[in-house]
Amino acid sequence: MRTKTLKQAPLERAKNFFEVALSLPEEQAIKEAGRCLQCKNSPCIKGCPVEIDIPAFIKLIKEKRRKEALGKIKEKNNLPAICGRVCPQEDQCEAACVLNKKKIPINIGALERFAADYELNQPSAIPCLPAGRSFQQLAKILKKQEKVAVVGSGPAGLTCAADLAKMGYRVELFESLHLAGGVLVYGIPEFRLPKKIVGNEVEYIRSLGVKIRTDILIGNTYTIEELFKDGFQAIFVAVGAGLPQFLGIAGENLGRVYSANEFLTRVNLMKAYKFPEYATPINIGNKVAVIGGGNVAFDCARAALRLGKDVSLVYRRSEKEMPARIEELENAKEEGVIFRILTQPVRIIPDQEGFVKALECIKMELGEPDQSGRRRPVPVKDSNFILDVDTVIVAIGQNPSPLLPKVTPNLKTNKYGTIWVDDNFMTSLPGVFAGGDITTGADTVISAMGAGKKAARSINKYIEEKR
Ligand code: FAD
Ligand code: SF4
Repeated sequence: MRTKTLKQAPLERAKNFFEVALSLPEEQAIKEAGRCLQCKNSPCIKGCPVEIDIPAFIKLIKEKRRKEALGKIKEKNNLPAICGRVCPQEDQCEAACVLNKKKIPINIGALERFAADYELNQPSAIPCLPAGRSFQQLAKILKKQEKVAVVGSGPAGLTCAADLAKMGYRVELFESLHLAGGVLVYGIPEFRLPKKIVGNEVEYIRSLGVKIRTDILIGNTYTIEELFKDGFQAIFVAVGAGLPQFLGIAGENLGRVYSANEFLTRVNLMKAYKFPEYATPINIGNKVAVIGGGNVAFDCARAALRLGKDVSLVYRRSEKEMPARIEELENAKEEGVIFRILTQPVRIIPDQEGFVKALECIKMELGEPDQSGRRRPVPVKDSNFILDVDTVIVAIGQNPSPLLPKVTPNLKTNKYGTIWVDDNFMTSLPGVFAGGDITTGADTVISAMGAGKKAARSINKYIEEKR
């Protein structure tokens, strides 16, 4: 039997911002690790974008060598406590696990988290290093003269910066916000990914020698050209996809209509849920409609629920087509989010003061599959109805952050505003590399990390060839 992830009880957790999923007790982790078949060709490793030696770290857990298990993971993954919590393992390593044929893959995510949380329970703040590495060894490697700039401190930027630092480069990481972490701090809520966890992993990256410089907007404070003039030999651009998309319907400019980004940034980064202890308020009514069916929509819905509101999730396809992680979908249902599927908003109705009074919707049915392979939603004639809500949060997707491509001459972009890169993650500008959501559009933490890792190798090669 696969060991299940333990959770706070639904009705209790729906009222607090504490983490929903709990770490496995040691006994259960060892039992789960004992199920691993230690397959020779280990398909799970190929399913992991940063190629963690999964059977090796699982074996170390089974042998009660938790710290060494973490060191083994850190050989490849700089952010294990984050990945153990938010990676869509069911589509990656666990999908590739041979036991998945019997629908009982190893709970790799929970085991990764178990190993990573070793550090949380240590009195010393000294982070665990990759297996076989000491700080003295890292200090010796730190002898390269070249400086590399990394722009954006989300998972792509953090990974690239850490790997370059481990190779011995002097790395400066520029972030426009006051805290490093990207979506990990401003988007994913505390109840899924506590900020303390992100803070610990950012500290680990700092401890590798990466200089993190916050409150600096590249493209404004400094341009790419100025970074080169300042002596950086290469630049990695990882500015993500932080531009909200809207529905384009009437009423989207009314009061109490939020983009998911604004809502989550206020609640997470600015801690609006602790207002007035923290200065940022959030003006929402009592009946909230969240539009969308992805991870972002679920995060908004569950955050609004925790602020004590009635929450409806409005999605134009059926539950089967929702792109969110299955676990989050189940969590939301258990907590009391109301699902209004096959429903498309057509207009937001104003009250006399310019705030949301209601949401007009139309019923949908599923037609033929579209380009994404999912069945296309088609409006049902004369099925309009009014949803009684006073707040609308639009969570239908994010576009690539436009500033840097806009102000950087000759930086080539693709049709939808993503930055063009070649197979080595080099952009149209020599020495400027890019990866993560800014090149792919909104994707996942681990795919952004995979890009950061590969780009670090390409940057190393590029600098070595220039010497
Ligand atoms: P980001 O994480 O977006 O980081 C980009 C950073 O660059 C930001 O900190 C930004 O402030 C900074 N920046 C932007 N412009 C500049 C500039 N000009 N100068 C300096 N800094 C700049 N994925 C999962 O795998 N699992 C999940 O459960 C999950 N949940 C999600 C929930 C939400 C609410 C959101 C929004 C996304 C979620 N994702 C999830 C997707 C995942 O978080 C992203 O794919 C990932 O963070 C992309 O990483 P990145 O490094 O490319 O960019
Ligand atoms: Fe273990 Fe599954 Fe990987 Fe085989 S595929 S080594 S069972 S985690």
